[in-house]
Amino acid sequence: MSVLDRKQQPSAAQRVAVVGGGITGLAAAHRLAELLPHAQTVLFEATGRLGGVLDTVNTDGFLIERSADSFITKFPWAVDFCRRVGVGPQLLPTREARRRAAVVRNGKLHPVPKGFVIMEPQQLWPMLTSSVLSPWGKLRLLAEPWVARKPIGKDNTAVDESVASFATRRLGREVFERLVQPLLAGIYTADPQKLSMAATMPQFLESEAQAGSLLRTQWGRRRNATEDSQGTTESGARYGMFLAPEGGMGSLVEAIEKKLKVVTIRREAAVESLQRDPSGQWRLTFNVQPATESFDAVILALPGPAATRLLHKTNPDLARPIGEIPYASSVVVSTGFRRDQFRQPLDGFGFVVPKIETRRIIAASYASEKFPGRAPHGYVLVRTFVGGALQPELVMQSEQDLIELVLQELSSLLGINGDPQVVDVARWDAAMPQYHVGHLDRINGIEQQIENQSGLEIASNAFHGIGIPQCVYSGEQAAERVATWLCHP
Ligand SMILES: Cc1cc2nc3c(=O)[nH]c(=O)nc-3n(C[C@H](O)[C@H](O)[C@H](O)COP(=O)(O)OP(=O)(O)OC[C@H]3O[C@@H](n4cnc5c(N)ncnc54)[C@H](O)[C@@H]3O)c2cc1C
Repeated sequence: MSVLDRKQQPSAAQRVAVVGGGITGLAAAHRLAELLPHAQTVLFEATGRLGGVLDTVNTDGFLIERSADSFITKFPWAVDFCRRVGVGPQLLPTREARRRAAVVRNGKLHPVPKGFVIMEPQQLWPMLTSSVLSPWGKLRLLAEPWVARKPIGKDNTAVDESVASFATRRLGREVFERLVQPLLAGIYTADPQKLSMAATMPQFLESEAQAGSLLRTQWGRRRNATEDSQGTTESGARYGMFLAPEGGMGSLVEAIEKKLKVVTIRREAAVESLQRDPSGQWRLTFNVQPATESFDAVILALPGPAATRLLHKTNPDLARPIGEIPYASSVVVSTGFRRDQFRQPLDGFGFVVPKIETRRIIAASYASEKFPGRAPHGYVLVRTFVGGALQPELVMQSEQDLIELVLQELSSLLGINGDPQVVDVARWDAAMPQYHVGHLDRINGIEQQIENQSGLEIASNAFHGIGIPQCVYSGEQAAERVATWLCHP
């Protein structure tokens, strides 16, 4: 699998720095160790803990994921990485019988119509019989095949537009407000009026450009599909495509660390500046001793604002567009209850909340129903998401206020008696890059700038996907470019 053959290995003295010990930086360091086992690779992490936003805590028999709880297998990079670090056999699928979600309408939970995934009504009948949509909303959806397609661009490609504009134009305002907006908010914590179709869901732009309609594309696919795939009972997300390590994301981070034997890991070492010295080496300065070190190549695997801070003196033209990528903050409040505290048994994997419901939570995920081993027998673990781009003011609240807010919302929607047995609050400030309309042009410009930086690479969840698989891919690709560059400077 090596992109370099033995003769191409650079000299042992060559040094590479990876800055940032989140999953992107860990994937980069791991790939460097695979490709350049004789080079000196050093991973710098500002905090005392590897994993970045990936953080698992075990409390009183509950396994609490403080951010990501699983990853999609539509892209192969995360599964492949897990296998290479020995976690492959421990990957769990979601529980098959419960792969559905609910949505709030007028203060009550209603099932997301069977087969409706993000923006795709894979089956029409469940949409037409759904309690989520009014008769007018259903009629408007049925008119979708007759909605004129948007003119395509000069180069024959679909023109970017916001998710809100696209979904409202094609599926109608009601399907957008009641289904698309809340389902997307649960993934991107984004403002759909700004979120770019081209950067997040190009397949639907493509369907419109090719077939002129999302429904017609679906019908075409169903004609060619097997009976099995036509009968999907999933709704909300493609839950059948998600996997999680049995021991949580923390166990994945531990497994990666064990595989990084040839990499020096320096925790609590925040890189404070980055400069190219006259010899062509990259000089890093730190908040700890030794205060300066030089490297032949550097991979920045940092959130946009942190990368911008390091780059603004060295390369303002690169720092500026990275700094312009907006970020949203959110909070995950995890609460563990006894199963008998719920008035009714929980159904599905959780629920999403449309903005028009004017509630104070984005979504809730029933972690213990999705994967085994998340709560002790007889208990339930619910993860509730607050804030995001549409309600940034809520993230600023105190921990106690956030807990009270979440308990009020959960009690009113799920009917819970009494206090939770376990509570955890994880605040993620500016952790979610927002892919606004025009995102791909901005990233194209950034990548052209990076190409001019000999030995400097940037891997990020802010460029081509926020999910764990895309982070792994971004880190590994950066490592491969560095390895190639060191062999052919
Ligand atoms: C609440 C939440 C839920 C999510 N859920 C999912 C999910 O279910 N599935 C999924 O696939 N994805 C999910 N994601 C997205 C995914 O988890 C992230 O995109 C990914 O983990 C980001 O990894 P990263 O390494 O790029 O960045 P980070 O995890 O932010 O890591 C960056 C690291 O760099 C370090 N650092 C910063 N500055 C410096 C410096 N100057 N010097 C040295 N080190 C520095 C930081 O301390 C940090 O450890 C979720 C994200 C959030 C926030």
